[in-house]
Amino acid sequence: MLFMNDMLLLKLGEVVLKGLNRRSFEDRLKANTARRLKNLGQFKIYSTQATIYVEPLDDAADMDAAFDACLKIFGVSAVSRAMACEKNEDAISAAAIEYLRDRLTSVSSFKVESKRSDKSFHLGSIQLSQYVGGMISDAYPHLRVDVHTPELTVNVEVRDYAAYVHAGGTPGAGGLPVGSGGRAVSLLSGGIDSPVSTYMIAKRGVSIIPVHFFSFPYTSQLAKEKVLKLANILTDWCGRLTVELVPFTRIQEQIRDNCPEEYLTIITRRFMMRIAQVIADRNGCGAIVTGANLGQVASQTMEAIGVIEECTRLPVLNPCIGMDKEDIITLARKIGTFDTSILPYEDCCTVFTPRHPRTKPRLDAVLEAEAALDIDTLVKEAVDGIERIKA
Ligand code: ATP
Ligand code: MG
Repeated sequence: MLFMNDMLLLKLGEVVLKGLNRRSFEDRLKANTARRLKNLGQFKIYSTQATIYVEPLDDAADMDAAFDACLKIFGVSAVSRAMACEKNEDAISAAAIEYLRDRLTSVSSFKVESKRSDKSFHLGSIQLSQYVGGMISDAYPHLRVDVHTPELTVNVEVRDYAAYVHAGGTPGAGGLPVGSGGRAVSLLSGGIDSPVSTYMIAKRGVSIIPVHFFSFPYTSQLAKEKVLKLANILTDWCGRLTVELVPFTRIQEQIRDNCPEEYLTIITRRFMMRIAQVIADRNGCGAIVTGANLGQVASQTMEAIGVIEECTRLPVLNPCIGMDKEDIITLARKIGTFDTSILPYEDCCTVFTPRHPRTKPRLDAVLEAEAALDIDTLVKEAVDGIERIKA
C-alpha cells in the first residue's frame, strides 16, 4: 500500500457521550464534514473509533483550507493533520522522520506517545514508542528525549487500516453536530450580538434559519447586503443557510402612525416574534433565537423581554442574555463577524426609535396600544413578501 498524502483526523467531542445516538451523530458529522469540504477537493470520509478520517483522494485537494474548515465543524473536539503509513515500526519511524521534519528540527526535546486500537499489533505501545523514539533520535542527533515536558510530542496511532503519525491536535469547534438538535429560526440583525447568538445555538447542534427584517427605503440595500454577508460568514460554522428577508416597512409605519411612541420598539419586536413563529412553523423549527442581552437597551429589561416573548408560544433562546458586551465582542471576533457587524448601516429598529422608550412596559397597556392595528393582516402581508436568499 502506498500513502501519498497527509490526512485529517477529527476527534469527536461530546458526541461520544451520547450512547445509543452516537451512530447517528457520527453519520451526521460525516455528512456535515463532506458538505463543508465539497469545494476543496475530493475526499474519502469515514469513521471508526470516535474519529472521523478525512483522506484526500488526489493531490488537488487543498489540505490547508480543509484543515481550517474542519476547525469550524461543531461536534469536533480536535483536528490533527496526520500522515498515514503502513502498520509496521519502520514505516512508522520513516513517516515520523520525514513528515515531522520541520517540527523535529525546530525543537530540542521530544517524546513519542503511541496508542494501539489494533490490539493485534505485534508491539506494545511502550515498545513501539521506544522503537520510533530511537529511530528519531538517530535521525536528529540534536534531540533529547524528555518524557515529562517535551517540546514536541510525536503521536503514533495504530488503527484498523493503517498507522498514523502526527504532532498533536488543534482544539476544534466543540459543541454538537449541526442538525442533531433540531432547527430554530434566528433573528439576525446587522448588529454584533445576533450573529454571536446564532453561532451559539448552532453550536448546540441546531440547524438555523436566519430571519432578517428590513424597512426599505428607511434601511438601504447596503444594510441588507451586510446581513447577507454576516450570514455568509456564519455558514462556516452553521453550514448552509438560507436567509428569510421580511419586508417590514408597512408594519413599522403602521406602528409609528397608530401606537404611542413609548411602545414603538416593544410592539415592533412583538411583530418580529409573530412573523418568526410563522416561519418557524413552516420549517419545522422548535424555537426562536435572538441576541437579547439583559439590561443592554430599553427593550432588554426583564419586563420588556417578558412582554415581547408573550406573543409567541415557542421557546425563545437568548444565549447572549448574561454575557458582558466585551465577551460578546471577543466571540464575534473569533467567529469572524465583528468587522462586518460594525459597518455603519442603519437597522430597521434604529430608524424608528422612541425618544423615551418604556423600560418597564405593562402587557395590558401594550395590548391596548396594539389594538389599533390589524395584526393578522399585517403579519400575513409581511410573510407573503418574504424573499429567501442563499447565504
Ligand atoms: P444586535 O447586535 O444583535 O443587533 P442589539 O444589542 O443591537 O442586538 P437590538 O437591536 O435591540 O439589540 O435587537 C435585539 C435582537 O432583536 C437582536 O439581537 C436580533 O436578534 C433581533 N433583531 C433586531 N433587529 C432585527 C432585524 N432588523 N432583523 C432581525 N432581527 C432583529
Ligand atoms: Mg441591533
